[in-house]
Amino acid sequence: MASIIDGKARAQQLRQSVAEKTRELKDRTGVTPGLAVVIVGDDPASQVYVRNKGKQALEAGFESFTHTLPAETTEAALLDLVDQLNRDDRVHGILVQLPLPDHIDEQRVINRISPDKDVDGFHVENVGKLVIGADGFVPCTPLGCWMMIRESVESLSGLNAVIVGRSNIVGKPMAFLLLREHCTVTIAHSRTQALDELCRSADILVAAVGRPGIIQGDWVKPGAVVIDVGINRVTDDSGKSRLTGDVDFDGAVERAGHITPVPGGVGPMTIACLLSNTLKSATRAAGQE
Ligand code: NDP
Repeated sequence: MASIIDGKARAQQLRQSVAEKTRELKDRTGVTPGLAVVIVGDDPASQVYVRNKGKQALEAGFESFTHTLPAETTEAALLDLVDQLNRDDRVHGILVQLPLPDHIDEQRVINRISPDKDVDGFHVENVGKLVIGADGFVPCTPLGCWMMIRESVESLSGLNAVIVGRSNIVGKPMAFLLLREHCTVTIAHSRTQALDELCRSADILVAAVGRPGIIQGDWVKPGAVVIDVGINRVTDDSGKSRLTGDVDFDGAVERAGHITPVPGGVGPMTIACLLSNTLKSATRAAGQE
């Protein structure tokens, strides 16, 4: 039976540590970390994320700046706002909530954010730094996964890591983080053949697909670390809606060594890592790193 990784408790610990370091930074330098979150349009899920980010930023002792723009905002107007935030010394982290409306080029907007304030780690410069092993901002979801994996195994060196999903925000950065740890990394995707066999070879298995239960319990190698990034809303037989991951948890928990639940695993770590990245940016801006 696997040990269940408590992402909620781990995230709370990280938030507390960020809050303590924030107090120290303020006392030492007078600098208060500032996080600006920009949301375009009225997607209800995005609004919930943005509210949570703002609330947790304030709880950590940060300044929080939320910019809510209408869905019909032009790309030029959004780029102007990003320029303004880049120049604003009170702002150390800028996050543009994705997805953006179709008429706006997401990558162009992300690449307009100063790489020094790109706390989401999506700017091409930070992506490049991750690939070459330089110190930049790492995307928050894979960063949280990496922390939980590191705390579950003594040494990652030489282990087989299989990441299912190759998105720019989860799968690819996860692969480079584990490569940095000297894992032998395989990235699987929708064209991968014999996914079950591949998963059975994984000492570290990360599922970031967005399909409920795609990873079956008997695909898990005994003793493996299983990180379930998937967040899927499903309706059960009684008509009740609930969140579930990409991994068949009940089957996998019997075989894995360590496993994250959904909810309560990867999810809570994401915003905590965003705060941690913003503190890192503010610490650098204050010349303390
Ligand atoms: P994307 O839709 O961008 O990527 C999904 C990936 O899964 C793609 O690479 C796709 O392959 C692959 N895939 C699809 N079907 C299969 C299949 N049958 N077999 C193998 N691979 C397949 O999703 P994201 O990376 O943005 O998110 C993945 C999941 O993680 C979602 O459930 C999302 O909600 C969740 N998530 C959770 C976060 C959190 O906890 N905070 C943050 C971000 C995401 P291909 O490239 O070939 O299409």
